[in-house]
Amino acid sequence: MKNMTHYVNGEHVEGTSGRFSDIFNPATGDVQAQCPLASTAEVDAIIAKAAAAQPAWAAVNPQRRARVMMKFVSLLNRDMDKLAEALSREHGKTLPDAAGDVQRGLEVVEYCIGAPQMLKGDFTDSAGPGIDMYSMRQALGVSAGITPFNFPAMIPMWMFAPAIVCGNAFILKPSERAPSVPLMLAELMKEAGLPDGILQVVNGDKEAVDALLHSETVQSIGFVGSTPIAEYIYATGCANGKRVQCFGGAKNHMIIMPDADLDQAADALLGAGYGAAGERCMAISVAVPVGEETADRLIEKLVTRIETLKVGPYTAGADVDYGPVVTAAAKANILRLVQTGIDQGAKLVVDGRDFNLQGYEDGFFVGPHLFDNVTNEMDIYTQEIFGPVLCTVRAKTYEEAIAYAMYHEYGNGTAIYTRDGDTARDFANRINVGMVGINVPIPVPLAYHTFGGWKKSVFGDLNQHGPDAFKFYTRTKTITARWPSGIKEGGEFSIPVMD
Ligand code: NAD
Repeated sequence: MKNMTHYVNGEHVEGTSGRFSDIFNPATGDVQAQCPLASTAEVDAIIAKAAAAQPAWAAVNPQRRARVMMKFVSLLNRDMDKLAEALSREHGKTLPDAAGDVQRGLEVVEYCIGAPQMLKGDFTDSAGPGIDMYSMRQALGVSAGITPFNFPAMIPMWMFAPAIVCGNAFILKPSERAPSVPLMLAELMKEAGLPDGILQVVNGDKEAVDALLHSETVQSIGFVGSTPIAEYIYATGCANGKRVQCFGGAKNHMIIMPDADLDQAADALLGAGYGAAGERCMAISVAVPVGEETADRLIEKLVTRIETLKVGPYTAGADVDYGPVVTAAAKANILRLVQTGIDQGAKLVVDGRDFNLQGYEDGFFVGPHLFDNVTNEMDIYTQEIFGPVLCTVRAKTYEEAIAYAMYHEYGNGTAIYTRDGDTARDFANRINVGMVGINVPIPVPLAYHTFGGWKKSVFGDLNQHGPDAFKFYTRTKTITARWPSGIKEGGEFSIPVMD
């Protein structure tokens, strides 16, 4: 059985804690490797290496740091197929979707090549008599990031690329369910010219995370994962004086107005609801058609389309729309929630419970499910299912439809399908959700905008990537300077003001 490693100071290092977790091939159900779970002592040693390496890296000029990112982009493109295959093997998503995972991270790396511009700072000449004032952005020191299983390439890059280009050392604690690609990314960063110790990968579970949270050296923590863990990491990190940003779970609503093109809406729901087996924080998991006629027609169109969905292993190539879910436990939880939906009175229009794939009976495949007549008290509505299960909530009016999205505790993404500009504009202005699509089902912002939800989908005040990332990974220092010719004689006892 293959043992994965940690990546410490530019080298693969075996775990010494004696604790491991299984890494599955979700398509077959086989355990394909063991992931070492770091002890506190192992994490502390890694933090010390990061702290030792960081000052020299922060002293490298921003243009040279950006050149490492340039080279890294070309290496990502060179190794795209290899990265996608490793990702699909542990996660289960299709190869094109895995390549998209790498590509969406790569785009943030490209954005980070603009670091010299982003880090330039502000200067005021003659802010007072003989006085100049300037602000600069300085690296925090050692930063850490804890990432989920569902985007093993994209989310680590969203964190480490801006952190590193700003002059920080970064410690990545990826999901113990999909550690291969994060380790490969660290190797590529070294090949791109990054000095040892600036990007390290520590595999582990709560013990490793707690070691990062309680370290006095770690200055900032980024987290992406489920909301209960996000709340814990945010509270603990803040209590320990760190800068923290945590991105949590989701329940994304798509409102379908009576004037929408229902074929377009149904196509969009198919990809956004079932793509990646629903294991996306920006998946649409609730469809809210407005009016009975819209709902009836939409359900009919969805059922026809769902019947054509092809579920299978990534190795089947273009013949597959989505793959298995990540573990047997994830599958069991999805099927448990489906059962609560039935018990609580929702109508299961498409039942994927008996889905079985010949030759892959032990894989973690879940057939597509479609619920109708879902209400806002049901568990399938209140909880994140994170599987190929689309819930339909029927609304009589636009106001009722928008209220569903407004009153749900999560606020990551949402979408509206309509041909009416006024309705779309009103929706975009009033909705209390961070990322909004107008006739766009998965409105993940591009690298130069920022990514983040509202409500229980986020803890902290700066978003991921875009200009916010440069703020999160730096501190502002403002210098007020004057030279002897500008200094008046005698002491000043009142607070200086600008008359
Ligand atoms: P998870 O919360 O189980 O794990 C995320 C990370 O936290 C992993 O690295 C894991 O090792 C660590 N972790 C788990 N339990 C911990 C504990 N008790 N203490 C400390 N650390 C712990 O999430 P997941 O199952 O890997 O990912 C799916 C979740 O992530 C979903 O809820 C999804 O919505 C969310 N997600 C959110 C976004 C976003 O941007 N908002 C993006 C992707 C995924």
